[in-house]
Amino acid sequence: MITPVLPTYSRVDIEFERGEGAYLFTASGERYLDFMAGIAVNALGHAHPKLVEALSDQAHKLWHISNVFRIPGQEALARRLTGATFADTVFFTNSGAEALECAIKMARKYHAAAGAPERYELITFEGAFHGRTLATIAAGGQEKYLEGFGPKTPGFPQVPFGDFKALEAAIGPATAGILIEPIQGEGGLRSVPGPDMRRLREICDREGILLVLDEVQTGVGRTGTLFAHESSGITPDIMAIAKALGGGFPVGACLATEEAARGMTPGTHGSTFGGNPLAMAVGGAVMDVVLADGFLDHVKGMGLKLKQKLAMLADQHPTIIEEIRGEGLMLGIRTRVPNTAFTEAVRAQHLLVVNAGDNVVRLLPPLIIDDSHMEEAAGMISAACIALEKEAAA
Ligand SMILES: *Cc1c(COP(=O)(O)O)cnc(C)c1O
Repeated sequence: MITPVLPTYSRVDIEFERGEGAYLFTASGERYLDFMAGIAVNALGHAHPKLVEALSDQAHKLWHISNVFRIPGQEALARRLTGATFADTVFFTNSGAEALECAIKMARKYHAAAGAPERYELITFEGAFHGRTLATIAAGGQEKYLEGFGPKTPGFPQVPFGDFKALEAAIGPATAGILIEPIQGEGGLRSVPGPDMRRLREICDREGILLVLDEVQTGVGRTGTLFAHESSGITPDIMAIAKALGGGFPVGACLATEEAARGMTPGTHGSTFGGNPLAMAVGGAVMDVVLADGFLDHVKGMGLKLKQKLAMLADQHPTIIEEIRGEGLMLGIRTRVPNTAFTEAVRAQHLLVVNAGDNVVRLLPPLIIDDSHMEEAAGMISAACIALEKEAAA
């Protein structure tokens, strides 16, 4: 018999009741160290006082007002985001996939507004993940997500990751732009190196096409800069963000330059809930914390230390850990055992991590972790490795 909740997830049988900082607690009081943060969402940990305050203050005033009206919280968060990035303008959504949908529509409309509606294709890369709507599964191009859902939405030719020859060959009269994650999240923590990022920018400039970044997972401080592309020195034309932006409240955004957004005139796009006052209040509070002096330096410092710790563990457990990947607090462990077995072994130590493609286990701790959390996590991973080694020897 089907479960009342549509069974599209094979869920871990743990019920959490509350969270506090980097920890989660079950109803029976068991404590877990959360190094997945709701898949890079709870960037400030659980029940951060500033976020609780922002949400409850707003809850007493106004929850929802249609985009028919001006929404001061939206204007404030948009100013905040444009002030801190390449962007001149922002559209707010409720999720990452919707932010991508806006980015895709905007890239197509940019060319259509310039009299070239035949330019509607965004070239994407193998291993990509852009969401689960019909357009974003086509953009991601993964057979397992496309299968059975009818004809693939056209307009998303795909080339192998890092293959510039294939990329150049794929560019043609139908190309609107290039869509890429600076670090593939679901795909297994594969980073686009800085020189490759600059090359992508050059290609887009040369061809008159748009560089569209998916920073839904990498954005809002995760990699130690506000956005991951900053470390390469380039800026995109359009960028989709979400996950950490609401610190656990559903919110996403599509950021763009004035030029890229030129086709998006009144009536061209919309959302009932997008940019609602509750989401904007929380998003504003997240930005306050992330942009405060020293916060991103803290993420950078913690990221380096955690990566060193993991590299040491890799040396100590070469039959379990193959490689450490990623940047800032978006780190991956490529395991020699099935990644699912590794994730279960660390969960048995009460550490939560999340799987990715390419047999990688992702560590996405809240950005507020300190040395003590890191030591604790390293101890748990070490114990899990020892347990896995024993299992293999038995
Ligand atoms: C999570 C994610 C998405 C989709 O976001 P949803 O909020 O689940 O729709 C898109 N792109 C990347 C890179 C992601 O990590």
